[in-house]
Amino acid sequence: MERYGLFIDGEFSAAQDGAVYTSINPANGLPWAEFAAASTLDVDRAVKAAKAAHDSGVWRNKTPAERAEILRRIADLISDEHMALVMAEIQDSGGTMRKANGADIMGANMSFGQHAEFCEALQLEEATEEFFPIEATSIVRREPVGVVAAIIPFNFPFAAASWKVAPALAAGCTLVLKPSPLTPCTALMMAKICTEAGVPPGVINVITGPDAELGAALVAHPLVNKVSFTGSNEVGKKVMKSCADRVTNCLLELGGKSATILLDDADLDIAIPGAIFGSFFHSGQVCESGTRLLVPDAKHDEIVARLKQEIANVVVGDPMDVTSTMGPLISLKQLENTERYVQSLHDEGATLVFGGKRPEHCDENGFYYEPTCFTDVRNDMTAACEEIFGPVLVIIRYVDDDHAIRIANDSKYGLGGSIWSRDLERATGMARRIESGTLWINDYHLINPKYPFGGFKQSGIGRELGPQGLDAYFEFKHIHVGRSSSRPEKHYLSMILKEG
Ligand code: NAD
Repeated sequence: MERYGLFIDGEFSAAQDGAVYTSINPANGLPWAEFAAASTLDVDRAVKAAKAAHDSGVWRNKTPAERAEILRRIADLISDEHMALVMAEIQDSGGTMRKANGADIMGANMSFGQHAEFCEALQLEEATEEFFPIEATSIVRREPVGVVAAIIPFNFPFAAASWKVAPALAAGCTLVLKPSPLTPCTALMMAKICTEAGVPPGVINVITGPDAELGAALVAHPLVNKVSFTGSNEVGKKVMKSCADRVTNCLLELGGKSATILLDDADLDIAIPGAIFGSFFHSGQVCESGTRLLVPDAKHDEIVARLKQEIANVVVGDPMDVTSTMGPLISLKQLENTERYVQSLHDEGATLVFGGKRPEHCDENGFYYEPTCFTDVRNDMTAACEEIFGPVLVIIRYVDDDHAIRIANDSKYGLGGSIWSRDLERATGMARRIESGTLWINDYHLINPKYPFGGFKQSGIGRELGPQGLDAYFEFKHIHVGRSSSRPEKHYLSMILKEG
């Protein structure tokens, strides 16, 4: 079995008390690798290493061009290590070969490449000549926010890490990265790659372990300047409360219950496979998945018949098999959670269209579930309101475009969504009216790191990716340089000094 330590101050080390735990392969329920189980003592060690690296200036004093060069080297090393990363990701997270290859490893590669580009274009200081109300120069300066606590979920471990590590490094920050206890492996591999590419010791640190207190201790650590959290709403609220206690800068990327809207003029040859990809990719364990399918009432029966045919083409199976298009769920807990939501759909009167059980042909010790679809669902049913994070698609009927928009927006979430239509102007007009951070038209799940990603409403606060995401890792400072030699009564000082 492979063994991994914590990554602190540029090297792997055991947890202070020597504790270890194993990560389970979701495809067969067996442990596949052993990891150090950090305690809050190790959290403190990692944060102090990040703080020392920040204070030394070893990273923040590099020019953006120097940092960009290292970010490009990280992207190159990710390409060199591609297959090892894919293999680790599959065994840790249960994602298919296609998903690990494309979304995780290539996605992270693109993220580092894009942030190298942002870095090269960065202007750390901009000076403007002013008369306010006298001659002055105003300098607006970007400074790295400091020590970042980066906390990520289990579903896209390597890509999610890159969404935090790449901008934090580009901005000149140092960080402590905490992956999900279920998927710790590739965060450690990323830290090693960063170090090999020239990131100095202490700039990136990784703590792993099953202790539920680790994340909380990291968020509450007094030397942490910013928390960047991706995960569930339940934990996100705790993180925000903890940040409030110390007034800590906090970014939240949380859950979703997005709508896929098929318009009456949609080309069903692409819209039906699109809706399936939008909801069943990675077994539905994707935050921005289109898990509510809104269909025009008049076309309901035709769409349901075609969906039923097409879902049968989803190949549930061993994620190591390149022909599998859907692997297992991450854990038994997630599988049982999905089963509870399916039961709630039966109980609340929805009609099963496809699936609804564990597949018989897969490893019975793995956490597999069939792609499942229900119709006759109302938007106020439990499974239409709550994030399931399993392969369950619910169909809701609408009568016209305004009605579809009302249903799409009738959710506490606002993360993703899609509209399928031959009329791009009509679809774009509707996208403008949907309360959501990302809308795809005739597409799904494509995330270009050049553009911002994040949630409206309870799907989060702030943005990752794009120049907006990078700016979240800076403090902005304004320096006012007074240039007037005139007497004080000519400007603000006259408000407090006696004239004469
Ligand atoms: P989770 O909230 O259970 O865990 C996320 C991370 O938080 C893990 O590393 C966990 O160990 C840590 N954590 C647990 N308790 C903590 C605490 N008290 N303080 C700080 N950290 C703590 O989420 P999950 O089950 O790993 O992931 C699924 C969730 O993530 C879904 O809700 C999904 O929508 C969301 N997600 C959102 C996005 C997005 O970009 N908006 C992306 C991916 C996943």
